[in-house]
Formats: sequence, C-alpha cells, structure tokens
Amino acid sequence: MEYLPIMIELKGRRVLVVGGCSGVVSKVRLLIQAGAAVEVLACAPDQSLLDVTAQNSKNVRLLRRSFMADDLIGITMVVVGPSESDATRSVVCSRARALGVLHNGVDAPADSDFIFPGIINRDPVLVAVSTLGRAPSLAAALRQRIEGILPLGVGKLAQVCGGFRGRVRLRHPDATTRRRFWQRFVSTTLGASEFDEEHLETAIEAALLKPDDGQRHGRVDLVGAGPGDPGMLTVRALQSLQSADVVAFDRLVAPEIRGLARRDALMLSVGKQTARHEVSQEETNKILVQHARAGAHVCRLKGGDPLVFGRGGEELEFLLDAGIETAVIPGITAATGCAAYAGIPLTHRDCAQSVVFITAHPKRGTKLQLDWSNLAAPNQTVVVYMGVRMLPKLARELQAAGLPPATPAAIVVNGTRSSGEKIFGTIEQLPRRARARGVKSPALVIIGEVVARAYGAQNAELAAISRAADRSFAATPAVA
Ligand code: SAH
Repeated sequence: MEYLPIMIELKGRRVLVVGGCSGVVSKVRLLIQAGAAVEVLACAPDQSLLDVTAQNSKNVRLLRRSFMADDLIGITMVVVGPSESDATRSVVCSRARALGVLHNGVDAPADSDFIFPGIINRDPVLVAVSTLGRAPSLAAALRQRIEGILPLGVGKLAQVCGGFRGRVRLRHPDATTRRRFWQRFVSTTLGASEFDEEHLETAIEAALLKPDDGQRHGRVDLVGAGPGDPGMLTVRALQSLQSADVVAFDRLVAPEIRGLARRDALMLSVGKQTARHEVSQEETNKILVQHARAGAHVCRLKGGDPLVFGRGGEELEFLLDAGIETAVIPGITAATGCAAYAGIPLTHRDCAQSVVFITAHPKRGTKLQLDWSNLAAPNQTVVVYMGVRMLPKLARELQAAGLPPATPAAIVVNGTRSSGEKIFGTIEQLPRRARARGVKSPALVIIGEVVARAYGAQNAELAAISRAADRSFAATPAVA
C-alpha cells in the first residue's frame, strides 16, 4: 500500500491555498465543507474563486500576493494550485516538507505527501476512492458504482445509531453483548432500500426492549447471481454478497462474481464440481443451517434465479423448517439473460403468445417424460434448461409430436459472458450442429419462430433458418 487512507479533522484549522486559478475552487469548497479556516494567496484570482470567497467570507480569507517562506507557520495543510509554476510549487512543497506540513500539489503527485481522493459524502458516512492518480476516470466510475449500492439515507442510519450509543451502552454494559446488539441491528436494517429517521428510531427502541439471548442470530439469503455477467447482478444481490460472512456458491457462479464477496468471507463451493466430488443437496442444506445457527450471515449464491430449476425451492423449505431466517433475492434467469444476449425476443405478438421453461434433465433414476404434444404446439417459445445431453431426444420427440422440422432453434452457450457462443439452426439441424461444435454446459436451448427474429445477428445461419422457417410456416396450416 503506497498511501494510508485516513480521515482528517480540519475544523478551525488553518489551511493555505497557493494559487488563484479556477482549478483550486473545488479544493477550496471541500476545505470549507470540512470546516477549515482557509487562506488563499492569489495575485490575480479567477472570478469563480472570488465568488466562493465572497459567499464564504467567514471561512475564507483572500490575500492578493505571492507566497513567502513564513506563510506556513501555524498551517496544518497547504495546497498548491495546478496553474502555479513548477518553481513556486517546488518552493512551497519543500518548505512544507521541512516543517512537517501536509502538502498537495494539485495534479503534481511528485510534490504531494497526500492526495485528494474521490469522495462519496453521505455525511456522516464518507467513502473515499482513489487510484493514486493512475486512472482518474476509473476512480470516477468506481465512485459512481459505489454510490449505486449505498442504500439511500445510509447517513441517516449512521446518525441515528450515533444518537443511541449512550442508551445502548446503558442497556448492554458488556462490550461483547453490545457489539452483538449493533451487529444484529445493522445487518437487519441494512437490508432495507431506504431509511426513514422516525422508523429507525422506533426500530432501535424495539430492539432495546428485547433481551439478549446470548446468541448471534444468523440468516441465509438465497441469492440469484444471474446468468454470468457480473453486470446482471441485482443491487440487492450485490449488497448481500458484500455483507455475508459465508458465501456458499454453485459451480455455475462465475469467479468474477464470487470475487465481489468480502475478502474475509468464508467461500464454500457446494455445487456439483466433478463426477468425483459432489456436495449432495442434503449436505448443502446442512451446511447452510449449520453456519446460520452459528450466527453467520450466509449468502447462498445460485446461478440465474435461485428458484428456477436450481433446487432453490428445496433449500428454502429446509431452511424454513429448521427455523432459519431466510430471504429470497431473485436473479435474472438464464432464459431472459441468454435471450437478451442472443437478441431473441422470447415472445412476439406475431408468433409467440407464451413462453414455456422446461428442464430436460430427468431426476436421477427416472426417464425424461414431458408433454411433447403441448410443447410442439404452435405460437409459443420453448426454453430448455439443462438440455444439451438430451437434445437429440428432445428434437426427435418434438418433431414426432408435430413440431415442423424447420422450426427455428438456437443454443446459447455460456450466455452473457465473453466466452459465450450462439448456434442457430432448425430443430432438425440443431443436435448435429451442437455435436459438431462440442457444446458443453451451461447451454440453453430456445425453440420457436422467435429465434428467426433474433436482432442484430449478422449471421448466415440465421438468414438460412429464416428462409426455411418461412417455407415451413407457410406450409403449416395456421392455428386459430
Ligand atoms: N437457476 C438457474 C438455472 C439452474 S439449472 C437459472 O435461473 O438460470 C442450470 C442450467 O441453466 C444450465 O444447465 C443451463 O441450461 C442454464 N444456464 C444457466 N446459466 C447459463 C448461461 N450463462 N448460458 C447458458 N445456459 C445457462
């Protein structure tokens, strides 16, 4: 770490700004906000600086002259504006170094012993972001992202907590009990998307009335991680992931998403990994309960949506039966994520009034049994999860049940990710194409006329199936 991030109190302290160009104005404003007594040395101050000085005459004093060696006596911090000459900046900064005064040359890291980070100000919650001057645009973009995940009114939450510190200390004199009280209060409250002061006060009052039973109460969030692209996580999912003590993730969850968890979180892979190592559903259920009972906040991270084909329903039942506080945070399921990725509208007024999600993965020890004639009916889209292995059978049965062989179909492999692939064809062609391309899981099959309407696809395969589909649909009597 090249720098140590700290928060510094400047209330009433003297801070000197050398320079009068518009580039110092944002710094002067920040210093005023922090309560500093600001002195600005400027021979020819810019109008914007004059305006700030006039509006804050109590906190800012403008001296129309250049720097003198004694100006740093009694000064806590000095900032040199970006338009000052190298010679001036070097004189000010070396004098500051000699006197131990904190100094910053704006846009001149070599002449600075501290830098101004990008800040998010939700007073009293302050977040500072810096790339140490390496990539200011990245710092700005990161700041925006962090802004997005901070709950609205998080400052109010901190304010209200601060106001109750004395009462909580009286109620729980023992430090461990007190810490437990705050951990529990904050972790349950942070789940809300916004805060209202009155409501927060009532919630703390209510929590204070409850006896401490000596246990940390854990909980489990069943969280949808979306189809792979980290940008498709919901804000709630990210909040859960970033606050959890334990993250139990499936094989399908991308490493980039797992990387968003807290650094000190316990990361448990509970999905199927290889034929040799597989954590059974029963074991997974037990692991979740065990950690929640030990007081942990567990984020059970599942690919897509947690309650679509992922045994999330079974986990939810098990957790609720075990009396564990559980919340479901939905995610973008593979069908919608992959359809968007491949540019396929799942429904369309002209050709698909409904969409059906099915799985072609039979429960162990059973045969694949689906209502083929319903699935072969026209004017609908069929989306098949876990369908790669069974694709030949699927295609055969659907055609036997009346689905025209020229029906457009697609396989989306690793959809939404940079390694993704889209394969188009007709239902008749698709099994062969999948085999030829060596398609592996995760892959999603989409069947229906909508596939021929995939937008933005500069794809010869697609043009060919459009033509084939036109012929086939013209030849198939329309169903009223
Ligand atoms: N709960 C998940 C589905 C779990 S079943 C969800 O809502 O999406 C796992 C199957 O989902 C995979 O076999 C595959 O068919 C599909 N799938 C998940 N992510 C996918 C992706 N990025 N690309 C293609 N298919 C995907």
